[in-house]
Amino acid sequence: MTAFTDLTPPVPAFAPVLHHRTEHLGPGEPIAAPLVGASTFAVPGDPALSGAAYQYGRWDSPTWTVLEESLAALEGAPTLAFPSGMAAIAAVLMPLLEAGDRVLLPSDGYGAVRQLADAFLVPRGIRVEHVPTPEVASRDLAGYRMVYLETPSNPGLRVADIAAVAERAHAAGAVVVVDNTTLTPLGQRPLELGADVVVSSDTKAVNGHSDALGGHVSTRDEAVLERVRRWRTLVGGIPGAHESWLIHRGLETLEVRFARMCASAQALAELFAGQVGAGRPVGAVAYPGLPDHPDRDVVARQMTAHGPLIGVTFADEATAERFIGAMRWMVPATSFGGTHTSAERRARWGDDVAPGFVRVAVGCEPTAELVAETRRALAGLGG
Ligand SMILES: *Cc1c(COP(=O)(O)O)cnc(C)c1O
Repeated sequence: MTAFTDLTPPVPAFAPVLHHRTEHLGPGEPIAAPLVGASTFAVPGDPALSGAAYQYGRWDSPTWTVLEESLAALEGAPTLAFPSGMAAIAAVLMPLLEAGDRVLLPSDGYGAVRQLADAFLVPRGIRVEHVPTPEVASRDLAGYRMVYLETPSNPGLRVADIAAVAERAHAAGAVVVVDNTTLTPLGQRPLELGADVVVSSDTKAVNGHSDALGGHVSTRDEAVLERVRRWRTLVGGIPGAHESWLIHRGLETLEVRFARMCASAQALAELFAGQVGAGRPVGAVAYPGLPDHPDRDVVARQMTAHGPLIGVTFADEATAERFIGAMRWMVPATSFGGTHTSAERRARWGDDVAPGFVRVAVGCEPTAELVAETRRALAGLGG
């Protein structure tokens, strides 16, 4: 394990994200970002000469600015906010792809992205190819317009080598998009590894309180940024002021929450891994921080944290449900990245996993309390 940690790239700075606004405050200005619920703004005369920074709420608004500037500080790249992760992803896929283009999507990635592509890209003449994350490394990328990665994949938690894929994709003339929801920029920095565009569901760890949906797109490519912005302005899929304010507020504690989640996830993954064996309740454990992870070399090179998700394969569906039912500090729910730990059998949504596969999404409970409760619940299963 020591050699493993030694290889980990440096953890990104978070103080500039927290202070992006407060560094420039004048006397008497509020430390907390103001929530501005305006749909329209005073614009005298010629709009271009009016000096009005804000004109109409579908184009831009002060509460987005605060959120987008802090997300930009986190990503190290210009950022646009969206009302959900899917709105952000659609704002990349729809305007950047045209008839005749080929796009590679992970077959083990977020289901709604695959459904969106099949339902709305394929009929527009775009060739959509679904490839399992572990096979992207050996795929010939010639002829693709876009290579889209989600790493670690969810819920299998396989890892794609972003730098290696980006190099080959760029040689083939393809744009590289990475869904970085699971790790956040604190755990992995796709743009620095060579990706062109990052998409994120901020419904998960970035907001982190299970009380708002949101998403963002970050890119240093100005032409891509303007096209995505134009899509948002014309389609009108924009985040509300209140949600933007909540997500900005959640983002301020991301570093503390994420550190806790990852530390607890590592402890739980090791606890589950100690239960694996014939006749035992647990058949397999997938976690990028375990030394036997199939992609451990890439994990060590590209990830600064191992994330809040653990895949635990229980002996069967009944054992999995008994575990979830017995655990006090795990809510039976979907989604992840929130303050409360949750767990669910992914097969109930039709994921291509064993019936006993449970995705544990670790929250912010004290690590020792979560570990003690998990140990108690496993003992009840005969573990
Ligand atoms: C949740 C999620 C999305 C979709 O985000 P919404 O905010 O629900 O629209 C996309 N990608 C990943 C990896 C996710 O976990």
